[in-house]
Amino acid sequence: VLESLDHLIRLQDIDTQLVQIQTEKGRQPEQLEGAKRPLQMAQAELDQAKAAMGSALKNKRSKEQDLQTHEEHIEKLKARQSEIKTNKEYQAHLQELATAQQDKGRLEEALLLLMDELDAYQKRVGEEERVVKEREAELRIKEQELMQQSAGLDQAQAKLLADRAELIKKIPEKLLRDYERLKTARKDLAVVPILHGSCGGCHMNIPPQRVAEVKAGDHILTCSQCQRILYWPHSNEQSAGPLEVNPAPVVKNDSPPSVS
Ligand SMILES: [Zn+2]
Repeated sequence: VLESLDHLIRLQDIDTQLVQIQTEKGRQPEQLEGAKRPLQMAQAELDQAKAAMGSALKNKRSKEQDLQTHEEHIEKLKARQSEIKTNKEYQAHLQELATAQQDKGRLEEALLLLMDELDAYQKRVGEEERVVKEREAELRIKEQELMQQSAGLDQAQAKLLADRAELIKKIPEKLLRDYERLKTARKDLAVVPILHGSCGGCHMNIPPQRVAEVKAGDHILTCSQCQRILYWPHSNEQSAGPLEVNPAPVVKNDSPPSVS
């Protein structure tokens, strides 16, 4: 009986690890999505910078055209000078020319400002392109990590499943059925230690007589409240310490994406 109980505890250990592995595997798509986010953000920044530069370029081209129109207008005005007959006409002509030249001057100033702006946009685009490249490289590393992790989980799972298949051969069929039924019903542990005189599952007090019986290990005994199978922890090495899954399925996240 004690041997069966040992097997059962080992089985529960394996099943717990399998659940943990399944949970880790379930989290992987989400982790991959999370890993892609910094690149997506950098890409969006780059697109924005490119769009801003594009509209500045468009603006510059239209200003250049305006400037050309103004220059042509001024040339025409100057050409007309010879046709002027009266002083009044001449004054009006000079006024018109001065206004046209003022307009042209304003346009040239605006163009200079636009050139500066374009320089700044150009720099920003270059900077964002660099960030995108960096994020791409980071993502490739992260993807590699996740792939390795996934392979590790698959490996661990295969090993546990093989161990499990061997183990259940050694457990009496009825006990195995009870275990499976309890595991499903309780959704956590089906086999629990007696801790401080109480059931390790539901914490109900266990009568000393029953504790003594469990200790003796002649029969498989269950908690009268939750029906979990009880064992005496000191007779069992495997009950010591928390369960661990190998390889440790923890994703390092020591380099949070910097917001730029
Ligand atoms: Zn109980």
